[in-house]
Amino acid sequence: MIVSLKKITKEYIQGTFRFNAVENIDLKVEKGEFLSISGPSGSGKSTLLNLIGCIDSPTSGEIIINGKNVVNFHDRELSKMRREEIGFVHQFFNLMPTMSAIENVSLPLVLAGKNKKEIEKKSGDLLIKVGLENRMNFLPQQLSGGEMQRVAIARAFINSPSLLLADEPTGNLDSNRGKEILELISNLSKEGHVTVLMVSHDPMALFSASRRVEIRDGRLGEEVS
Ligand code: ADP
Ligand code: MG
Repeated sequence: MIVSLKKITKEYIQGTFRFNAVENIDLKVEKGEFLSISGPSGSGKSTLLNLIGCIDSPTSGEIIINGKNVVNFHDRELSKMRREEIGFVHQFFNLMPTMSAIENVSLPLVLAGKNKKEIEKKSGDLLIKVGLENRMNFLPQQLSGGEMQRVAIARAFINSPSLLLADEPTGNLDSNRGKEILELISNLSKEGHVTVLMVSHDPMALFSASRRVEIRDGRLGEEVS
């Protein structure tokens, strides 16, 4: 078991109004699964992914990743978890605008204190793998949407994560570019034995999925087959 959620609730307070963006979610994900999470806008998909990704912490419940309950983790432990075990791909790419493609991909290795030679070799190899050998020194603004997402994918895989979280990774791409991105995520995950949790409206994403769940009003519905 790589991810186990037990009665996860995240409450938000907006003025005097409190509500649960996700409520009582139980979920178990086995190693090697490709789980697709669907649901309407505002149903709590990003909130759920951010909780699993140790970006946000729940109001109550347990989140166990690779056998570790991260709910009581301190900031240092959370950032170690994010850096070493989790890759994250976002809808809006989230690249550093002043850094080149290779600098963006290298960043997690720089933060982890790896040596310069190893950083250059690994980042370069991965950029070649995602088809960007001719774009290594380009800034994000000099890249197309599909290329930016390839950089973000390379960055997500650079630390050989055991878990990849992708939040609508094709949401800003045309359907051909989206298809290429999904294939890339699927291939790199298989190759690295990476478990994937992906939020997507893209019907193509469902082809890659080994399992599908739906979320509505913060609650996980029956599994969709
Ligand atoms: P989805 O990704 O499915 O579109 P989200 O998880 O982003 O949905 O949001 C779920 C609900 O929680 C929405 O109603 C949203 O407005 C609310 N929400 C998300 N983040 C916050 C926040 N930081 N503070 C208050 N409300 C939030
Ligand atoms: Mg969202």
